[in-house]
Amino acid sequence: LERLYSFMIRLRLTAGFITPEQWVALHHIAGENSTGTIKITTRQTIQLHGVLKPYVKPTLKAFNEAALTTIATCGDINRNVCTTSNPVASPLHEEVEVLANKIADLLLPKTRGYYEIWLDEEKIADKSQEEDPLYQDRYMPRKFKIGIAIPPVNDVDILTNDLGLIAIVEGGKIIGYNICVGGGMSTTHGNPDHYARLASPLAYVENDEAKVLKAVYEVLTIQRDYGNRSDRKLARLKYTVDRLGLAWWREELERRSGFAMEDPKPFHFTSRRDDYGWAQNHHGLWYFTMFVENGRVLDIPELKMKEALLKIAESGKAAFRFTSSQNLIVADIKPEDKAFVENILESYGLVAHTLRATKLRGNAMACVALNTCALALAEAQRYMPSLLTKVEGILEKHGLQDEELIMRMTGCPNGCARPYAAEIGFVGTAYGRYNLHYGGDRLGLRLNKIYKESLDEAQILAELDSAFAAFKAERTEGETFGDFSYRKYIAAAATA
Ligand code: SF4
Repeated sequence: LERLYSFMIRLRLTAGFITPEQWVALHHIAGENSTGTIKITTRQTIQLHGVLKPYVKPTLKAFNEAALTTIATCGDINRNVCTTSNPVASPLHEEVEVLANKIADLLLPKTRGYYEIWLDEEKIADKSQEEDPLYQDRYMPRKFKIGIAIPPVNDVDILTNDLGLIAIVEGGKIIGYNICVGGGMSTTHGNPDHYARLASPLAYVENDEAKVLKAVYEVLTIQRDYGNRSDRKLARLKYTVDRLGLAWWREELERRSGFAMEDPKPFHFTSRRDDYGWAQNHHGLWYFTMFVENGRVLDIPELKMKEALLKIAESGKAAFRFTSSQNLIVADIKPEDKAFVENILESYGLVAHTLRATKLRGNAMACVALNTCALALAEAQRYMPSLLTKVEGILEKHGLQDEELIMRMTGCPNGCARPYAAEIGFVGTAYGRYNLHYGGDRLGLRLNKIYKESLDEAQILAELDSAFAAFKAERTEGETFGDFSYRKYIAAAATA
């Protein structure tokens, strides 16, 4: 008897956009071929879990028929290109979305293997005819992640990407992009050589599409040629940046790009959160940013989210956009269609559900972890909601219930929910045990550090109770918990 293998299948959705027709297809494919849950990831896309081996090919073919694809969503290659997700956040969003799509297309593999294997295209007998100037015969040393942010919103967690582009806006126009290199979350317990890192601003390139695309492309060729291919733990771009240094990178990038670059320009973020509720963009279209706890779109007796979204999609009156915080924007709604969509959202309790989310819960993220992810050491998305309820109680006890806090949890040190870039991070070490991290900032510009190791729930709650009491008593005017905990627990320990 062959084992019954089960797979995760992830979509490629540049900038996190899907049409209503595609949502309808996704709904049915998820129901027929997977666990049924539509999981919004931390990188603005969708993944399905529990796809049994005989269903893999039919799933990919069904996605293809809906003009969706899974190509290059896993493996040592450029992954989904993320952008600031909320089109209301800036009228510059459309421009950035176009750029994201051009980058995604530029970095797609040129080989036809995917189409031959999964979509029954005729086989190419002579592989020497296939040329891929970027990936050549070796692909990247490791996965590669790209994001684009439009300040002042850092919802895309830009510095956690291998390559982050930060739009520099002057007079309401994007005048250029800061190119930031070397972000990445993954670590290994007990191995200091394997660390989380935020991307470093490397250079500024004027808003000339050919130049921006060339610079992006050449960052990948440098990493392709100089990345570590002998140790996968050290293969991400962040290690190549630290090994070769920013000055070398700048010189090599300019040489390969064929033009001189300026020093990075100052940028300023003020927020990293999704702004829930209704908003209207500069074209008059309406958007409802909906809270989806840990990105899980499913029907439960008290909240039939999947059913409601199917009804909206079937009407064709709204598209869907995904955020990098695992939430969903019911999007691009014409003014004359707003009442129809609003009625569905209201009648299914999704507006109340969104407005009920506390600031803590609304900002929180957890990865898939047990029982789905084979790498998990501990629970995350199944456990985080109940932990949050207890933490909400502690915040209330200290009169801090209105405090905006970014708390994230993963089931292993790979860091898929970016716990190292949270104000409070939990990283699973064993079943029911987590490292507690303090000191990340509110805006995603400083990583946290391990404060206590392998705590169980009682120890976590006791630590938070004590830290919140100290925060309440000792915080300076306007100080965030991330800054306070860095000052009190991390910086103080480093200088002790
Ligand atoms: Fe799995 Fe670890 Fe990623 Fe969580 S952080 S989804 S446990 S690999």
